[in-house]
Amino acid sequence: MTVSQIRWITLTVSFFVLSFGGLAALSLGNFLPTFSCFYVESRSGTCFLWVLQHLLDHGYWEAYKSLGKYLLYFSLLVIVIGRAWCGWICPLGFFQDVLDLIRRKLHLGYISFPEELRAQLSCVKWIFLFIALLIPLWVSFPFFGKSIAMDLRQPFCQLCPGKYILPFILGDTVDVAVNFKSTTTIIMSVLGLIFSGVVIFGALLKRRFWCPYCPMGLFLSFYKKISFIKLKKDCQKCTMCGICYNVCPMEIKDLLTERKNEDVTFTDCTLCLRCVEYCPEDETLRATFFGRTIYKSSSKGFFSRQHITSGFPEEKHQVVSEPYQ
Ligand code: SF4
Ligand code: SF4
Ligand code: SF4
Repeated sequence: MTVSQIRWITLTVSFFVLSFGGLAALSLGNFLPTFSCFYVESRSGTCFLWVLQHLLDHGYWEAYKSLGKYLLYFSLLVIVIGRAWCGWICPLGFFQDVLDLIRRKLHLGYISFPEELRAQLSCVKWIFLFIALLIPLWVSFPFFGKSIAMDLRQPFCQLCPGKYILPFILGDTVDVAVNFKSTTTIIMSVLGLIFSGVVIFGALLKRRFWCPYCPMGLFLSFYKKISFIKLKKDCQKCTMCGICYNVCPMEIKDLLTERKNEDVTFTDCTLCLRCVEYCPEDETLRATFFGRTIYKSSSKGFFSRQHITSGFPEEKHQVVSEPYQ
């Protein structure tokens, strides 16, 4: 079984456990480093971003104490597997991968944004994170615009594609509507619905379309230096063939161009390990856990993936390669 197949199984099982575990009274806590969305009634655990905003806007000590406790649990979970939460567990990541699979089944190509545009858009995740952190503080101490502040509870959630897409695909359409309570809620819910439409359409055209802008992914990346799991590269063995860059759903070019540092766990890396799986050079890319190699690239793995057949005496090689998508 390939790593891609194992990842698909893990993503699928996680999706169903996180989405429906609540029906079997499974409770995984209020500190999950993934989009196990609060607005999915049957969820088995709750996305930490909702809890963060909810407790920040209370404005009293007991709430902040609870937040500290949940942040500690959240941090422990992230330290163990880092952004593998994104590559292997997140329900919205799974949804995007399913749309990507549909695109591939339809034999459609994918689009890539130019590096310049990607650099310009990299501020979007920071804006979402500041919305999630600063507006709840205004809600808890509304020195001005009190009524507007009160309608901005869980401000990032009101914009989050997860809030609309995840309940919707599970058959719950209650939150997939404009909230007519006030002008503020109308604006926020309309924006959220527009973002969700853009994410659905975008994920059909571009791999992991939403993930480079996701504040949860950014939050998880803060732990990359201390996380037990790392992506490493032997720059001496790398032949710059470019396959790792082509197969990377997050289109991380630094993985290809890095010529000095061994640690190539870059901010956007979701630790999906596709680059390791597809790299044709022995032990050039590796995933390590607590310093021990748990998976490494190999020419054998590469050639078996390419379905190379050889025949004597002409030594004929027929290469039937999958497109690197
Ligand atoms: S709306 Fe988004 S941020 Fe809020 S709980 Fe759902 S997935 Fe998390
Ligand atoms: S970046 Fe966000 S949406 Fe993407 S997999 Fe990670 S938590 Fe999920
Ligand atoms: S760098 Fe490798 S492990 Fe990270 S997202 Fe890209 S393909 Fe996945």
